[in-house]
Amino acid sequence: MNTTPTTPTTPTGSAGSANPAGSTPPDAKTPTRVSLCGHCGRPHHTAPPALRCACIPAEVWNEPEAARAIRTLDLGALIRLVRAHPRTRHLPQTALAA
Ligand SMILES: [Zn+2]
Repeated sequence: MNTTPTTPTTPTGSAGSANPAGSTPPDAKTPTRVSLCGHCGRPHHTAPPALRCACIPAEVWNEPEAARAIRTLDLGALIRLVRAHPRTRHLPQTALAA
């Protein structure tokens, strides 16, 4: 029973005010699209942890190889790890693409 944001409330303060950077972070106020898992249909980030997608279990992310791949932005290694990990290798592409 969460609030249902039917109308995007854009808190535009004073239009034309001093905005040196010319932009605000898009995730700060803009109602962004909810990213749903293509496999389980649950949201990836915008839900309480119990309701989020858990197709890829936390232990996979805690693997040293995963941590290194994330740290070095080696997406190829990360994808190979997820596709080969015993906890995730059975998942379809829609779950792994999350
Ligand atoms: Zn999922």
